[in-house]
Amino acid sequence: MPLKRYMLRPLVLGIAMKFSLSHISILDDTDTWLKYKKGLCEVCHASCCTMPVEVWLKDLLTMQLIDEFEAGEPLKQIAKRLQQARVVAQFNHAHGIFTLARRANGDCIFLDADTRLCTIYERRPHTCRNHPMKGPRPGFCAFRPKQKAAQTKE
Ligand code: SF4
Repeated sequence: MPLKRYMLRPLVLGIAMKFSLSHISILDDTDTWLKYKKGLCEVCHASCCTMPVEVWLKDLLTMQLIDEFEAGEPLKQIAKRLQQARVVAQFNHAHGIFTLARRANGDCIFLDADTRLCTIYERRPHTCRNHPMKGPRPGFCAFRPKQKAAQTKE
């Protein structure tokens, strides 16, 4: 039976997804990143959550790491407390940028190691909300399929 137009769409989507599942991006080489498409996150190892995440004061409020009262304190003081709490790794005073802490394997401390899902999804910072439309290569992400990433795990 010849393929009808309406039968081609799932076929094309299947091929596209198959390509995605065999693709492994190199985190530091944006040329290897995959063009983002809906549904990709569900089969990804959450590579984007292994990159350094820069956040600002308003994000700390969104993330409920500080309250309105503490937001009025000097940034340096806030950074010191959050560094002591091991939530923030670095603070750039000149630009008011806080870099979130990561685990030894590069995972963001808010990433669930097993599910590979964000544990503060509803409160995640703008940097994460805007990815991959804003970031190192807009529209592309460092896709690594869950299964392959697990196989290459040290
Ligand atoms: S805050 Fe959540 S979405 Fe952002 S990098 Fe961490 S785990 Fe990922």
